[in-house]
Amino acid sequence: MTSFVEVILPLPLSQTFTYSVPEEYASLIQSGLRVLVPFRERTLTGIILSQVERPPEKIKSVRPILSVLDEVPLFSPSFLGFILDLSRLSLTAVGELLKAAAPPEFLVKEKGGYKRLKTPTSEEIRLKFRKKFKEAEKIIGCLPEKKTRTWRFLSRQTQINYPGLMALLSRMEKLGWVGQEKRLKVPPRRKKALEPPAAIQLSLGFPVTPELEPVLNEVFRGLFSQEFKPFLLLGLRRRREAFFLALLNKWGTSAGNVLILTPDIVGATSFWEKMVKIFGPKRVALLHHELPGGKREATWQRIFRGEADVVVGPRSAVFAPLSKLRLIWITEESDEGYVHLDPAYDAREAAWLRAQQEEAVVVYGSTAPSVGLYARAKEKGFLLSLGEASFAPVRITTSASTGEKILGPEVRKAIEQRLSRKEKVVIFLNRRGYASLIACPRCGRIALCPQCRRPLTLYVSRAKAICHQCHYEEACWSQCPQCGSSVIEYRGHGLERIAEEIRRFWPQVRLSSLEADSAKGKKRRPAALKDWQRGRLDILIGTQFLLSSLEWTNSSLVVILNPEVMLAQADFRTGERVFQLIRRLQDEMVSSSKPELLIQTAAPENYVFKALANGDYEQFAATELRFRRLLGLPPWQGLIRLTLTGQSLRGLARQARSLKNELEFSGEPVELLGPTVLPRLRRKNQVQILIKGKDREEVVTRVYDWLKKKTVNYSAQVFY
Ligand SMILES: [Zn+2]
Ligand SMILES: [Zn+2]
Repeated sequence: MTSFVEVILPLPLSQTFTYSVPEEYASLIQSGLRVLVPFRERTLTGIILSQVERPPEKIKSVRPILSVLDEVPLFSPSFLGFILDLSRLSLTAVGELLKAAAPPEFLVKEKGGYKRLKTPTSEEIRLKFRKKFKEAEKIIGCLPEKKTRTWRFLSRQTQINYPGLMALLSRMEKLGWVGQEKRLKVPPRRKKALEPPAAIQLSLGFPVTPELEPVLNEVFRGLFSQEFKPFLLLGLRRRREAFFLALLNKWGTSAGNVLILTPDIVGATSFWEKMVKIFGPKRVALLHHELPGGKREATWQRIFRGEADVVVGPRSAVFAPLSKLRLIWITEESDEGYVHLDPAYDAREAAWLRAQQEEAVVVYGSTAPSVGLYARAKEKGFLLSLGEASFAPVRITTSASTGEKILGPEVRKAIEQRLSRKEKVVIFLNRRGYASLIACPRCGRIALCPQCRRPLTLYVSRAKAICHQCHYEEACWSQCPQCGSSVIEYRGHGLERIAEEIRRFWPQVRLSSLEADSAKGKKRRPAALKDWQRGRLDILIGTQFLLSSLEWTNSSLVVILNPEVMLAQADFRTGERVFQLIRRLQDEMVSSSKPELLIQTAAPENYVFKALANGDYEQFAATELRFRRLLGLPPWQGLIRLTLTGQSLRGLARQARSLKNELEFSGEPVELLGPTVLPRLRRKNQVQILIKGKDREEVVTRVYDWLKKKTVNYSAQVFY
């Protein structure tokens, strides 16, 4: 009897595909093995998801798999379960997640591509392709005669999505218009793994204070219970780290492996160094996507073979192939660095799903966790606290409204005092450039990006006006292009403007500024940070980027300028973000001798700043949660932001209507807002739909099922 398998393919699709298994392979089949399969005119590496008795009824002909690549499965059943859950709950194609989970060397390289063999006339194309005439003409137009082009290139150029493009290309191939060049690089065969080395028992001698003991025991019991257990651990960063080490000390790694997820690569590297000091270099692995290809694969193999007990990495390490995972440690729950965009997933949610599948423990650490998780932890009883923390005091002052000056008298006085004592000052402002708005006061014209219609930011240092969205740039206005007025107004002061004012007040001061732009890739430490570490600066000013650097704790004063501009953004989580941001600044200042945090704001009465001044997270969380309940926002309701992208607005509107119909006539009632037309991005139209429903999982699943049936290009964000 023939048997069949469901296979996941590394394509931007959420469907699985059915293949038959030839007799010779029948005894080898297991889920998680790699197989080579034919797919349209190509050969791909897929992963067996499961064995099935018969193919789905609607499928007429089933093709056989070409070969089985492994003796041992690449992924365990629980890992595959995790990938499927994550795909559904993040609305991300399962094939894309598969690609993120396996190193590229493990999948067949799609080197070759398509080339033009014959140039059909417009008439011929019209005759053969009728309705799809325009699309077909575009494809032909993009194909050179001599060189090959990959489908990814064609899809990008023509804006036709993957299934549509493949259908057209295969018809053209039958007509003899295009040809395919295959350069297949078959990945190496995987043999049986070696026995992993025995676990080690540590003896580090960390003192566990009596009040820590019950908390430690709670997590400890979780580790040995062999069931899924989440914990939210409230406490200062240093205390959380000490707790983690104490936990390792008590536990060793006798019952399984540890995965540590940090918000970025810099953080991962420093945590990895700490772990290497304890376990030695052989038992600890650092895994991230910026490792060079060979090294990344070698690291992956080492983890796969069970040679590493501890894996440290940023968000992508959530896919590390640990086979005996017992503990996932999230170092900083409040950091947005855990959000991955392409493919879209949130590593914090992914860690939860993975721990659930592997029946492991996941610990989220934070001083100011997201209120959604906090509410859940309180309700379900998984909130742990490392005791009261004494934070650096917060003082609130109102913005200077007098004349040109940005720094108010209180801020100036505080800086003056620190400078006279030869102490260091950090100034924080979340706005880059000189001014965020360039306007003509006479006719009201604003400098906008011609592509995205967003206001341009003025950079005096580069003498340019730049779009932060698409990096478009133009020369600064010397006069208004509309009315010719030579008086130009600059609103929304940024870092450059603050630097200018500081130099005016204190000409002798050693000053440097740090913004995300000047520190690309986060791999190299920017010069400003090096100077700061070596004590060559008196004042460091910077954007949010400062936070991930964490090297500025030797300052006794941190000034936060106009954090209320962040509150004005159209995102319901901005209150939470601002609170978390300032709380983390406080967290990092604990070591400094007599630190102070000064917030200069135009909205001193805002609940976020009041809660900060009182040093009260609970007060903040309670207010925030009450607001969100009133407005029907997460965590009380599921919220999905779905952006559909395509060439024609009419087509997008049709898709939006189809989604609306689908959701309105099935299951629990949902609320749909939109579609709203967004600014065009890379010459494509975009519409956005917000979907709200009482039960997040239920509404996400329904949207997922709809997306599976459609061939529309989309991006989605699921809020927690
Ligand atoms: Zn004008
Ligand atoms: Zn732009």
